[in-house]
Amino acid sequence: MTKNTGKTGLGRRDFLKGAALASAGAGAGLTVAAGATPALAAVAGPLSRAADLPKPSGQRVIVVGGGWSGLTMSKYLKKNNPKFDVVMIEPNSTFFSCPLSNLWLGDVVDLDLLLHSYTDAAKNNGYTWLQGMLVQLDREKRRAFTTAGYIDYDYIVLSPGIDYNYASLGVKDPAEAIRVAQSYPAGFKPGSEHLSIKAKLDDFEEGVFLLNVPTGNYRCLPGPYERACLIASYFKREGIKGKVVLLDPNEKPTIKADGFLAAFKELHKDHLEYRTAVNITGVDVDKKKVVTEFGEVEFADAALYPRVRAARIIQDLGLADPKSPQMEGKIDNFKYTVPGDDHTYIAGDARPMPFSKSGNTANTEAHIVSKMIAARAQGKDVPWESPNTICYSMVDGEGKQSIMVDAKYKFTKGKGWGFTDVKLIEKRSKQLGKANIEWGKGLYRDMFS
Ligand SMILES: Cc1cc2nc3c(=O)[nH]c(=O)nc-3n(C[C@H](O)[C@H](O)[C@H](O)COP(=O)(O)OP(=O)(O)OC[C@H]3O[C@@H](n4cnc5c(N)ncnc54)[C@H](O)[C@@H]3O)c2cc1C
Repeated sequence: MTKNTGKTGLGRRDFLKGAALASAGAGAGLTVAAGATPALAAVAGPLSRAADLPKPSGQRVIVVGGGWSGLTMSKYLKKNNPKFDVVMIEPNSTFFSCPLSNLWLGDVVDLDLLLHSYTDAAKNNGYTWLQGMLVQLDREKRRAFTTAGYIDYDYIVLSPGIDYNYASLGVKDPAEAIRVAQSYPAGFKPGSEHLSIKAKLDDFEEGVFLLNVPTGNYRCLPGPYERACLIASYFKREGIKGKVVLLDPNEKPTIKADGFLAAFKELHKDHLEYRTAVNITGVDVDKKKVVTEFGEVEFADAALYPRVRAARIIQDLGLADPKSPQMEGKIDNFKYTVPGDDHTYIAGDARPMPFSKSGNTANTEAHIVSKMIAARAQGKDVPWESPNTICYSMVDGEGKQSIMVDAKYKFTKGKGWGFTDVKLIEKRSKQLGKANIEWGKGLYRDMFS
């Protein structure tokens, strides 16, 4: 039985938006083989013709990915050098924001807040958005092969985000990984997965809703803890006899630990159980249970978050660092360029530096990298600056209260990367709750207006 069809459920308008998002992602699995049979030649068609683009008006910069990194990069490449001809390639037809999506899952904000138009972003900022995917690169010729045709370029920035590694949950068989992904989607990549989780919550009657924290440097460190709080708030508010169980391989939350632990204890003790130092080693889709070193955990429904890796295209292009367990790009950490190639850049969550994989980090980093590329085009260099991780987490969906952290990064010889200039506010408040939503609106303006 569907619990509600009002603000919490997907209304007709939301449903239509959801359908558009789902169909937009449908081409995402395309791969192309060389040496084509007639059937394959049809697939290879776009690879053998130029994309339908006007002759470049200046040096052409391709930005791959229209997420937090790619959107900011495209806009600020143009601002830093108006003569650049910027083309952003992104397969989805609508932008879906992962930041603030937990608030939508917890019924604190409407879906409208998360959806934005690629068409408007490109028109407002003087670049071209090409709907398609990068599938191969000829870095010698500086030619990018996309599902919409090939494009010659002067510079290319790869900001394709992340993919999941289901083997980290003990699910090694690809067919089984697809079953887990479709039955219990993680909801840490934009779009369709979130719609699926929202529908699960709308239909949830009783029992355990299972969430987990992955290992490694996963996307949005506070994300799983914030989601647990907001679903617990939602269960309480709606009178649902459900409980969130959050499995964490760590001893305590990986960030803003005191703020989250206080919220778990003081606000959510009836609807949230937090279990620490526990790793998922297997998933039984049909029996609805996960296996851990301490036994099995049964659930009524779940959203399972595997370890992340850089989006697969980075590896397919031969640009992943083979030493990186998350297959992130190999780049000069201070220039963002691929070794020996000053024309190829990697940014956003696909970067190898152990920065927080966050939208604010990707946005502020893109401001810096776009300046670097504009300078490079004039034969100049600009010094590295630290990106900024500003991250709010709503821990109370009823009172709309948040906590926050604001930090930068520094590199110390012999020690590597670490945080600097850290400002941490772990006492939750309504004031930070308001600032949380205003932060999102400010960044949407920065990317789309
Ligand atoms: C639930 C949740 C909550 C979050 N909350 C916050 C928060 O409060 N604050 C914060 O700062 N961050 C938050 N984040 C993290 C933030 O969303 C990510 O760090 C950010 O999106 C990273 O930006 P990106 O551009 O690297 O990747 P993405 O935003 O994922 O964009 C990558 C884009 O590349 C495209 N792409 C992939 N492959 C190709 C290809 N071959 N060709 C063309 N395009 C391609 C994809 O379609 C995608 O649109 C949250 C994330 C989640 C999931």
